[in-house]
Amino acid sequence: MKVYLDNAATTQMDKEVLKAMEPYFCDIYGNASSLHSFGQEASKAVENARQKIADFLNCDLQEIIFTSGATEANNIAIKGVINSKDHIITSTIEHPSVLETCQNLEKKGIEVSYIKPNSDGIIKVEDIEKKIKNNTKLISIMYANNEIGTIQNIKKIGELAKNKKIIFHTDAVQAINHLDVDVQKLNLDLLSLSGHKIYGPKGIGVLFVKKGTKINKIQHGGHHESNLRSGTLNVPAIVGLGKAVEMILITRDKNNINIKKMRDYALELIQKKIKNIKLNGDLEKRLPNNLNISFMNVEGEALLLGLDLAGIAISTGSACSSGSLEPSHVLMSIGLSHEQAHGSLRITFGKQNTQQEIEYMVEELIKLVEKYRNMAPKRFTQHL
Ligand code: PMP
Repeated sequence: MKVYLDNAATTQMDKEVLKAMEPYFCDIYGNASSLHSFGQEASKAVENARQKIADFLNCDLQEIIFTSGATEANNIAIKGVINSKDHIITSTIEHPSVLETCQNLEKKGIEVSYIKPNSDGIIKVEDIEKKIKNNTKLISIMYANNEIGTIQNIKKIGELAKNKKIIFHTDAVQAINHLDVDVQKLNLDLLSLSGHKIYGPKGIGVLFVKKGTKINKIQHGGHHESNLRSGTLNVPAIVGLGKAVEMILITRDKNNINIKKMRDYALELIQKKIKNIKLNGDLEKRLPNNLNISFMNVEGEALLLGLDLAGIAISTGSACSSGSLEPSHVLMSIGLSHEQAHGSLRITFGKQNTQQEIEYMVEELIKLVEKYRNMAPKRFTQHL
C-alpha cells in the first residue's frame, strides 16, 4: 500500500485543477501581456483566476500579485518594505523563506527582533507589543506553522499593528486549506500563499498587497503585476491556482471535519499503543491536519526511512531542511531537547487519506518504534 501523509510538504494536485489548466499549455498559449487576441485570451483567464483569489481573500483585484510561490512572495513582502533604518519583528518559528530573508537583512544592518513562542508553539501578542519601537516598520508572523501546525492569533496581531501604524505581513501558506483568510477581518497589509499546498500546481503563489502599502520591487524587468513582480505570467499555473482556491471554498468545511477525524483517530491509536511519546505544540490551537510527535529513544530519520520502505510518506520536521542534521529550529524554539527534536515525526493528513491508510501507518509505526527501541544502546537511552 502507498500512503501519503506529508501534505504540509506538498499536496496531490486535484484532477479538477489539472482539467482547468490543460487548455492553457498548447491551445491558449499567448503571452498574457500581448495585445493581440492570443494574448487577450490568456489575459482573460489570468484575470478570471485573479478574481477568484481576490474573492477568496476579500480584497481587490489590483491587490493580488502573482509570484513563483510563497518563497518569492515572502522575499518581496519583507525586502520590498524595509529601508536601511527600519526595525522588523518576526518569530523564531517562521519558515526559512522569512527567517533567512530577515537574517540576510540583519547582515546589511537592519535590526530584527525574533519572538520566541511559548512551549505550546503560540506567540504571545504582548511579547510582540513589548518589542515595538519608533522605527518598527514591519511585523511578519506566520498564520499557521508548517512543522507543528500551531495557529497564531493573527487578528489580534493585526489590530496591534494597525493601531501602531506598522505594516503587517503573514505567511498564510499552511492556513489557506483550513482557516478563514479574510484580509480585511485580519487587518493584513501583506499575505503570502502557495499553490502546491492547496491541491494546486507547484511554482505559483500570490502576494496580497493592501492598496496604499509602500513596497518596492526586488526584481527588475517588464513591469508585470503592477510593476512589482516582473516576469511573463505562468498562465496555466495561475488558472490552476484560481481553480484550487475555488475548490477550497466549496469543500473546506467537509474536508476539515474528515481530516480532523482521521488526525484525532491516528493520535488516539498512537497514544494508546506507543509509550513515551510527546505531542509537540498545542492540540487545540492547531491545524486539523497536523501531528508532530516525539518518540523517545528513537531517531526520527530511522522511522522515516522504515515507514518509506513500507510505502508510507511522512516527514521529520520540515521537508525544506531535510538533509541537514541540525534539529528543527521550530522544535528547539518550543524548548525540546536535541534528542526529543531528533526523535520527532511530522504526520500531515490530506483530503485523499482513508481510515484504512491511517490504521496501516500506525501498525507500521508501532513495529518500527518497538524495533528501534530494542536496538537502542544503553548509552543512548540513559540521558533521555
Ligand atoms: N512558508 C511556509 C509556511 C511553507 O510551508 C512553505 C513551503 N514549505 C513556504 C513558505 C514556501 O512555499 P513555496 O514552496 O511556494 O516557495
